[in-house]
Amino acid sequence: MPKAQETVLEIDLKALKHNFEYLKSKLQNGTKFLAVVKAFGYGSDSCEIANYLQELGADYFAVAYTNEGVALRKAGITKPILVLHPQAVNFKTLITYALEPSLYNTKVLKEFIEIALAEKQSDYPIHIKINTGLNRLGFCKNDIDHAVTEIRNTTAVKITSIFSHLAASEDLNEKAFSLNQIESFNTISKKIIEKLTYQPMLHMCNTSGILNYPEAHFNMVRAGIGLYGFGNSHEENKNLIPIATLKTIISQIHHIEKDASVGYNRAFKANSTLKTATLPIGHADGIGRQYGNGKGFVTIKGQQAPILGNVCMDMIMVNITDIDCKEGDEVIVFGQNNTAEQLAETTNTISYEIITSVSQRVKRIFIK
Ligand SMILES: *Cc1c(COP(=O)(O)O)cnc(C)c1O
Repeated sequence: MPKAQETVLEIDLKALKHNFEYLKSKLQNGTKFLAVVKAFGYGSDSCEIANYLQELGADYFAVAYTNEGVALRKAGITKPILVLHPQAVNFKTLITYALEPSLYNTKVLKEFIEIALAEKQSDYPIHIKINTGLNRLGFCKNDIDHAVTEIRNTTAVKITSIFSHLAASEDLNEKAFSLNQIESFNTISKKIIEKLTYQPMLHMCNTSGILNYPEAHFNMVRAGIGLYGFGNSHEENKNLIPIATLKTIISQIHHIEKDASVGYNRAFKANSTLKTATLPIGHADGIGRQYGNGKGFVTIKGQQAPILGNVCMDMIMVNITDIDCKEGDEVIVFGQNNTAEQLAETTNTISYEIITSVSQRVKRIFIK
């Protein structure tokens, strides 16, 4: 891999292929693979990631919002794209770009049917989201009959899939709850299908669901975090490779006298002489303020260098007193050895948050 000369996010497409193949190996023949590429492909780059996964054979894509789907279409994605949380204001755009909405209550269902009719659509593919216990988005059991009647009474839309989302697929202490969700999903989807003259797909599993609930793979699975190299346990992580490495360099080294301070608000005060390195990465790049004051660290020459004082907008200062390094040397913020998960743990957050926080200012580099 090339040595960093500025702050870059390196994306290892070989690792992406490994993760895709590993997750696929958990599926039965014929189970479709939907790749979740929302939030810029979990902070990497949705267009490059989706194009590569399309080449590798992903069947479906999902994003959270309509504009994310539009970006994929403009980048050459031809496979179906599910929009998990579309807003009615974007329904017309969604249809223009042949994106497929998740519809989760009577209000959005009616709004979508109205716009699909106005746009002269017939059998437009929609996905019906069922709430089985996450209590986030989804039709409740009691709304279903009415929704199915609305759908049967129009030629504008057709149910391509019925789906639900597990609340605690990674937590085996909540296995009884997850099994209950799977059972209600089975019951509710059967009830819908009985009233249709065609067979929609069913899907329920995210990454941890794929690994922990093979009985709930149904016709398709929806993998996000696993593609990017993280599971939700140390066991799962062993089989996955983080695809993103956030790298930077040392801009300047300072020799700090005892009692001197470092950074804004003089948040760090030196008890003894020490050596600091200033790095061109700050909270505007995705290193939140909570990582400051000794919580977060970077890795230089294989050694940990804790962040000193407050994180600035464009810079951090780290303690390199015991590290043999010089200006211009490479710095790893997170990567395949010093993982985003380890860094996330220093502030009690999760890998999802730190990888999706790397801002668009950071240059992406793709390693084939
Ligand atoms: C984000 C998301 C996923 C992907 O979940 P991972 O845990 O990242 O695999 C799947 N389904 C829905 C509805 C989501 O919002």
